[in-house]
Amino acid sequence: LQPKIASRSVTNHILKAFGLRMSKKLGQNFLIDASIVQGIVDAAEIQLGERVLEIGPGIGTLTQGLAEAGAEVTAVELDKKLPAVLAETLKAYDNVTIVPGDILKVNIPEIMGEGPFKVAANLPYYITTPILMALLERHLPITRMVTMVQKEVAERMIAKPGSRTYGALSVAVQYYTEPEIVLDVPPRSFIPAPEVDSVVIACKVRETPAVDVMDEKMFFRVVKAAFGQRRKTLSNALKGGGFPKEQVRDAMEAAGIEMTRRGETLSLEEFAKLADEFTKLAK
Ligand code: SAM
Repeated sequence: LQPKIASRSVTNHILKAFGLRMSKKLGQNFLIDASIVQGIVDAAEIQLGERVLEIGPGIGTLTQGLAEAGAEVTAVELDKKLPAVLAETLKAYDNVTIVPGDILKVNIPEIMGEGPFKVAANLPYYITTPILMALLERHLPITRMVTMVQKEVAERMIAKPGSRTYGALSVAVQYYTEPEIVLDVPPRSFIPAPEVDSVVIACKVRETPAVDVMDEKMFFRVVKAAFGQRRKTLSNALKGGGFPKEQVRDAMEAAGIEMTRRGETLSLEEFAKLADEFTKLAK
């Protein structure tokens, strides 16, 4: 049995042995709580031999949990110092492949090959939203994503129309997935302890998006414009986002959305209807 990396003493030992200094810039906060690692692995519902993409393995803490659960793990790490460390800390596992690089730049279909896969990650918080959006928008064959994120981001991911935190991220996440918060994680579960509370959120990717739209690009253009200028009415926000005045009036009327509404109050269904009206007008 391998000693678990997810402990304060083992992690400190590895950091010292390799002379590592944690990089704040790269969002490095390593997990030191084995029960949280197990919680992420459980939420990922790993089947033996299933392929998992891990983002930011660090010194291999979560990677180890995924490997022990029998996943075929491909882990992408940006910090150039870490692949050599991982080669050592994970040498007991033949089901782990480390890919050095930036998750926003690597060719994911190329490294994951054909067929479905899952995503598991304790995400670097400085780029949480770009990573989530990139994974969702590219229509990769992902079936489930289990990620550690800042609590405030998770609240935005699950927010419903009309709530303070509802925004473009809520719409995108709920359009593609069914998100569910599975664990609350306090700062003391990491070294160094982050300044914010964290949660593990599991997103089950839908087989088809939550609402039907004629043109997905138009749907997200409308959503981004609607939330681009908060405190404005939807019609003003859409105009500010580059939609012509007459089109805004006609599309909103055809979609049955009152001119006084604010973007923050629209459901996914209403955004879909509105986007379809713009699509029709653009034809
Ligand atoms: N998985 C480890 C754990 O749970 O202890 C480390 C998680 S730490 C919060 C985030 C990791 O992501 C760090 O190892 C960091 O170097 C890496 N990282 C940061 N930006 C990245 C990027 N653009 N692409 C891939 N990895 C990145």
